[in-house]
Amino acid sequence: MPETVDWNQVRDDAAATLSRYIQFDTTNPPGRELPAAEWLGDQLTRRGITDDVTIYEPAPGRGLLVARIPGTEPLKPLLVNHHIDVVAADPTQWSYPPFSGAIAEGFVWGRGTLDTKNLGIVLMLALELLIKEGVRFRRPIVFLAVPDEETGGSEGMRWLVDQHLADLDPEWVWDEGSGGFTGIFGDRLLFGVAVAEKQIQHLRLVAAGEPGHGSIPHGGNANVTLLNALERILSTPRPLHVHPIVAEMLRVVAQGQSFPRSWLLRHLSNPLVMRLAGRQLAAHRLLSAMLRDTISLTVLRAGYKVNVIPERAEAEIDCRLLPDTPADEFHRWLRERIADERVQLEVTESSPPSGVASLDTAFYRVVTQAIERHAPGAGIFPLLMPGGTDGRYFRQRGYPAYGFGPMILGPDDLARAHGIDERISLDNLELGVQIARDIIRDLCA
Ligand SMILES: [Zn+2]
Repeated sequence: MPETVDWNQVRDDAAATLSRYIQFDTTNPPGRELPAAEWLGDQLTRRGITDDVTIYEPAPGRGLLVARIPGTEPLKPLLVNHHIDVVAADPTQWSYPPFSGAIAEGFVWGRGTLDTKNLGIVLMLALELLIKEGVRFRRPIVFLAVPDEETGGSEGMRWLVDQHLADLDPEWVWDEGSGGFTGIFGDRLLFGVAVAEKQIQHLRLVAAGEPGHGSIPHGGNANVTLLNALERILSTPRPLHVHPIVAEMLRVVAQGQSFPRSWLLRHLSNPLVMRLAGRQLAAHRLLSAMLRDTISLTVLRAGYKVNVIPERAEAEIDCRLLPDTPADEFHRWLRERIADERVQLEVTESSPPSGVASLDTAFYRVVTQAIERHAPGAGIFPLLMPGGTDGRYFRQRGYPAYGFGPMILGPDDLARAHGIDERISLDNLELGVQIARDIIRDLCA
């Protein structure tokens, strides 16, 4: 079939539409996603994609959009999702104001251009193209835009899945995740498709002590008790362990590496090889996060006056467990290291094991084919995400959820998501629509 799409026009439309979307300041907290959700619903209708749009308000001011595009056959839908909320941005640090949606230097600039308003626009424009091309969908599609992803989803995806999972009942979920990148594991272009993520364990340590005057030190200083416990925890990293998904990733990464690194990466599941190469690999930050349970000391709350010995000190640790680490084993390990009954351990937030989306599905195959078509020669692998996304709410319930951003980022781009000068190139927007159009057509038409 001859190509009839005017890609220059698509590219300009994508840039202008994303720019408008960025101008809704959806910084979470508080989010205030409702006006943006209503605008998206209006776009879906005006572009002729669907009139079947429902906007929920899980909490005041928070908009959650569910749009349905019918299929001609009684198949379970493809669910596509992105989140409307963004993290905060300090405008004094940015080249263009973070909520301006400036289009300049070949990029759309602003908070949310990579995470994840871009994904919403790319999916919407791909759907519009397919419908205008006269494609008839056998399989229904559910287009979601949710609030509150950045603070855990209790007023977003978690609410939706608790309330409406039975009406959604998707065959596959396509959500945010990785995409194409260079410069993290060598220069080869690699694409990750997230199929699992680490379990979240947010824990608080509370040390109790004896108050006193700073001029007369004693052994019951809560600050010292807490520091010693933290030292015992943080000085012993958790053991390295190769999850099968990570083994598959390393097999693909190895193809772009020279000997002996290539050989070591391929054989890392062998305990002997792990002992030889583990320390060196663990020096790679991202790889280390995929090879072990991690602990970040993120909050300390202790003391109030220089001459007062405090009776209480608190720390919070952000722990991320591999999908096959039992949480109770991890808690036991922590308690053994704390080994001090003056320190209490509390779980403030936890997610159950993520579940792993199968690689043997039409979704994974179709995504792989679309990448091969648009980025020939790139390496493609399943990814274990160190961070959490809304995809976990589906995986927890046994639905295959995949995280995939149809774009190619350079080493410099990755720090921009949640960082300064977040931006997306117009090239990436065009590529995104092309890949999304192929994936949706191949799965649903
Ligand atoms: Zn995100």
